Amino acid sequence: MRQQIAAANWKMNLTYEQGQELLDTILNENIELSKHQRAVFAVPFPYLVMAKHKTTAKQRYFAAAQNCSDKKSGAYTGEVSAEMLRSIDLKYCVIGHSERREYFGEQDHMLARKVEICLENGITPIFCCGEPLSIREVGAQNAFVETQLREALYHLSETQFRQIVIAYEPIWAIGTGKTATSAQAQEMHMHIRTMLAGKYGKATADEIPILYGGSVKAGNARELFQCPDVDGGLVGGASLQAAEFMTIIRSLK
Ligand code: PEP
Repeated sequence: MRQQIAAANWKMNLTYEQGQELLDTILNENIELSKHQRAVFAVPFPYLVMAKHKTTAKQRYFAAAQNCSDKKSGAYTGEVSAEMLRSIDLKYCVIGHSERREYFGEQDHMLARKVEICLENGITPIFCCGEPLSIREVGAQNAFVETQLREALYHLSETQFRQIVIAYEPIWAIGTGKTATSAQAQEMHMHIRTMLAGKYGKATADEIPILYGGSVKAGNARELFQCPDVDGGLVGGASLQAAEFMTIIRSLK
């Protein structure tokens, strides 16, 4: 079975103390993850070492960065490189979240470099894609997502591509309380998988975890995750509450 992942995205929330408390509460609950399941916590940069340290004590729990630079190193004040993330033995990094695209002007050609630089450093990119409402309203979401994937990922070899996790996050569902229906999620996830099969072959496409993101909560996670092509979720708001996120972890297939 391909990996099933519950990924928390704390964004720019919580103090260090609050973050520690949230992680401790979740980790102390001792939710057993089976071999194919993972829980990932994408925390702010200053909390990474703490989150890494706490999650390392648990099998199948991981810390993640929310972003990294597209540059290797050098005079780029305020940036954090993939090599720095590797130096603290980080295994995951979110790349191309819609908030990075919208507020920080990140475009697919830059994301293509970020993905590559993560892979060079042994870090699995959790690559985000998804359409805005205006595109969904005219029914052009499949072509929109296809372009995002083609421009940011299709330069990868098949071996590199096998290291990728994809998160489909329709922008109209992020932080809005408006979740895609499980039918809408399944339809897009299946489309993505079919598209990947066209480029990298069915065996590879079948191995890639495709997470759904957009107002995932304790109350809707199980139904979404039951869809055959939905392999877990990337969760913003609900990941800030221990009880909510624990239920989401427990909802993994
Ligand atoms: C996200 O941050 O990726 C996200 C999906 O947020 P939310 O769960 O709050 O919609």
